[in-house]
Amino acid sequence: MKNSTIRFIIFVLFASCVVIAPQVQSSNTHSVNWGYSGDASPKNWGNLSPKFETCKLGKEQSPINLNDKSASSAKSLEFTYKNTPFKVINNGHAIEVDYKAGSYIEIEGKRYELLQFHFHSPSEHRVKGEAYPMEAHLVHKSQDGQLAVVGVFLKEGQYNPFIETLWANILTHKGERIVRGVTINASALPPQDKSYYHYTGSLTTPPCTEGVEWYVLKQPIEISSQQLAKFKSVYSGNARPVQPLNQRVIETKEF
Ligand SMILES: [Zn+2]
Repeated sequence: MKNSTIRFIIFVLFASCVVIAPQVQSSNTHSVNWGYSGDASPKNWGNLSPKFETCKLGKEQSPINLNDKSASSAKSLEFTYKNTPFKVINNGHAIEVDYKAGSYIEIEGKRYELLQFHFHSPSEHRVKGEAYPMEAHLVHKSQDGQLAVVGVFLKEGQYNPFIETLWANILTHKGERIVRGVTINASALPPQDKSYYHYTGSLTTPPCTEGVEWYVLKQPIEISSQQLAKFKSVYSGNARPVQPLNQRVIETKEF
């Protein structure tokens, strides 16, 4: 090959790198791959994309370890969950159930609409250092855009008919299923005793946005060992490790 030909090939290769590289980069930031193991694991989330910076720079992150050294809270928490048809989504990170509009919680009279709930295994929040086998997150949003998430711990025990209805429609691969002819009511998730831990934190998944009001219920609900095993066969280990509390105060309320 002539020298000039080699020079031309090198030029073309170089030019194409320059042209292609920014495109690769920008398409990466559109759908950044994150997960719970390997290079995309929680400790690297903050480095995967500039959009995920809060995951490493945020000072009010979730989940956290909950303990009794807390201030007491007088905030009222009321649930109004209605029957709804539902859609089950396996989003590649969790099993999520989308809820129709019209169900909500009220915190001190302020209304937060229930959007969806999903599950983590093991639990993301810990109580005095201990994790539960699972945790459900009921995600709510107020009209002014404030997020409030209610966490419910699940432990091994009695068979749970509500969970059975969900698990019967679980997708083992990424995708969604609109469930027809069946309605559910998410009021089956929170326990009778609504005593809670409250603190201000973040989404527990990228982009780790802060300003989320967390209400983690103290009393766990029960599911059978078979039901737990079924969930774990689809998702296990989709829990972010606990984050530093920093200057935050955990409030508690007993009902
Ligand atoms: Zn969650």
